[in-house]
Amino acid sequence: MATKRGEELPILPSEPALRVFMRRLREIMADPGDGQARLDRIVRQISGLMVAEVCSMYLKRQDGSLELFATEGLRSSAVHDTRLKRGEGLVGRCAELAQPINEPDAQAHPAFSFRPETGEEIYHSMLAVPIQRAGQVLGVLVVQNRTRKEYSDDDVEIMQTTAMVVAEHLVSGAVAGAGSDIELSKSAPLVVKGEPISDGIALGHVVLHEPRIVVTKHLSDDPAADMRRMEGAIKELRASLDAMLAHEHLTVAGEHKEVLEAYRMFAHDKGWERRLNEAVLGGLTAEAAVERVQNSTRARMLRQNDPYWRERQRDFDDLSDRLLRTLAGRANGGATPAELPSDTILIARTMGPAELLDYDRTKLRALVVEDGSAQSHVAIVAKALGVAAIGQAKGIVERVSAMDAAVVDAETGEVHLRPSGEVIAAYSDKVRFRAKRQKQYEALRDRPAVTRDGARISLNMNAGLLVDMPHLEESGADGIGLFRTELQFMLSQTFPRLDRQIQAYKSILKEAGGKPVVFRSLDIGGDKSLPYMKRASEENPALGWRAIRMSLDRTALFRTQVRAFIRAAEGADLRIMIPMVSASFEMDAVRVLVEKEITLLARRGYQKPRSIKLGAMIEVPSVLFELDQLLPKVDFASVGSNDLMQFMFAADRGNALVSRRYDPLAPAPLRALKTLVRAAKKHKVPLNLCGEMAGRPVEAMALIGLGFRSISMAPASIGPVKTMILALDTAKVAARLDDLIQAGAADIRGELKRMAEQDGVEL
Ligand code: PEP
Ligand code: MG
Repeated sequence: MATKRGEELPILPSEPALRVFMRRLREIMADPGDGQARLDRIVRQISGLMVAEVCSMYLKRQDGSLELFATEGLRSSAVHDTRLKRGEGLVGRCAELAQPINEPDAQAHPAFSFRPETGEEIYHSMLAVPIQRAGQVLGVLVVQNRTRKEYSDDDVEIMQTTAMVVAEHLVSGAVAGAGSDIELSKSAPLVVKGEPISDGIALGHVVLHEPRIVVTKHLSDDPAADMRRMEGAIKELRASLDAMLAHEHLTVAGEHKEVLEAYRMFAHDKGWERRLNEAVLGGLTAEAAVERVQNSTRARMLRQNDPYWRERQRDFDDLSDRLLRTLAGRANGGATPAELPSDTILIARTMGPAELLDYDRTKLRALVVEDGSAQSHVAIVAKALGVAAIGQAKGIVERVSAMDAAVVDAETGEVHLRPSGEVIAAYSDKVRFRAKRQKQYEALRDRPAVTRDGARISLNMNAGLLVDMPHLEESGADGIGLFRTELQFMLSQTFPRLDRQIQAYKSILKEAGGKPVVFRSLDIGGDKSLPYMKRASEENPALGWRAIRMSLDRTALFRTQVRAFIRAAEGADLRIMIPMVSASFEMDAVRVLVEKEITLLARRGYQKPRSIKLGAMIEVPSVLFELDQLLPKVDFASVGSNDLMQFMFAADRGNALVSRRYDPLAPAPLRALKTLVRAAKKHKVPLNLCGEMAGRPVEAMALIGLGFRSISMAPASIGPVKTMILALDTAKVAARLDDLIQAGAADIRGELKRMAEQDGVEL
């Protein structure tokens, strides 16, 4: 609070009045009866406490508009009649910005929206505060006075505290019935729309990743005790962050050093501590104080236009959540594996690939995140695990409670929260239908993927962990076209040593049962980081020190992995693929290192693999213009279309705002791929494509039309892609595609879909 108070515990001049008021508020809430009557009494109480001629409460409807729900001072006929569009007027602005608006002459403000039906023209000063709960704005509480005055900091505090208590009761349903489609409680069914990032449909129960503690008690019965709890929790929080940072290996999954540094900076911030203490001294419980300061700080940070502060706001939110968990004695948060329901629908603001792997996959049915895109690594991991996933489900975390029933439809991108019986029944049917389709795919398992005109397509599977390997047999894939070795490293708490790597690769080869496996050397960097590996932070990690660049600089790391590959593959065929090759000289350097290992191991008497093939990933555009130099240096090549498209279009694969903006079936990328197919043919280099596009039937159809005869995808895509292939006429699609590319057609995807439909090719 702004004003300096008495000697001992600072006491608000208004504190006795505030306490009486809070008690009354509690009584009103506890009173049985009509919700509207309660709201009316609340605004009457507030206007009395604030000595305001007007007190009004606006509540948010699902369309974002704000409806006048109760008023003391304005015309009562305006109640439920006056509605402000999203962002309209000072009240709408207060809701949008989630921050107080204090205007001595509201009517002179350019954003003021005059509503004659309310009779508000005689009131000049206005104080509006958001009614919010866990970051979600539910409405706006307003006081108005005739005189032109600026409300004091104390007035603002009191109104904010009142708004918080009101929010609690709105959410608890104390005013249920006051409105029809008001989003007050988390008990109504709700559909949140996002974007599918890993196919599937799942029914289950919600687990919130690092769930937020819901503050249920706001007014303190014993401020001194709450003060002690607050001091203790801050101390504990600081100590735990210091300990984490001091820990050499930073073993906490998903915690990155920079994030922890930011946390620590906030945790030691004196201003934060002061505001927390002041809020407790003002009569709040320690938990309510954290929430209160979180809301006001968030509002302040969001006001900054600087993206740095917007980003920091997320860190600050996490830190506040952590402090709440510390207060609740649940410092580590999250559901323990034992608590996970067997049909877990995991919901998170954001999640990295390693964090997802921390969950028991046998219990995971679906993942829903507020960010994320189909090409992000967490999506790739979800696909590998066969977990349905939806990204871009904005605001879902605030709208859901742990153990809510949910249906995730990763065909349409819809998440049904607390679905009705009919929705559950409809989805159960859909799941049964999909299972039937799955059976049809399984029936194709042993049938080779041969087109109607006799082209044999090699269908391979992408994998990254030993647990993926049973899919090889189940899907009938011809081999592992991409084994992402970094996943084992990401899961590990420390660098996997040589023997652990040998063991892992041996098991993979054994599980593959003689089918070819392409091991990709470590592709670390970008969004794939190792929690135990210290690295300088980079402005543009996707363009930074990653993959082969790191391997060639840290040769010991790379050589250890190559040694492990060679030892694991003794007597068998070994294929090693190098990620992010950007120039042909890098393959020379790689070959030198591999040869060194071969010589060294032979000298030590180890049996050699039957053959060793070295391949390059084609995922950096520069190599498309160096194919005549690069291809003679490799035994095979594989297109990493996720990265290739990202770099060709300069569109971050993990950023949903841009990742789907450009179509890989546009003439430009198709011409690039065609050039590559021709060059591979000329140099007699086997060519594969192992990015996400291979797993989508229409894209796979285009790839085959371009001349690809080998593609690699997530196991669940093999069935649909094989079904498409069995009905395909390659000569026809090749000719059509050539024409479309030559003509620079605007909608190649649409044309191919139409062609498939005419020819009875299922996509
Ligand atoms: C790619 O870039 O297309 C690829 C297959 O590799 P990753 O997705 O692991 O980067
Ligand atoms: Mg890649």
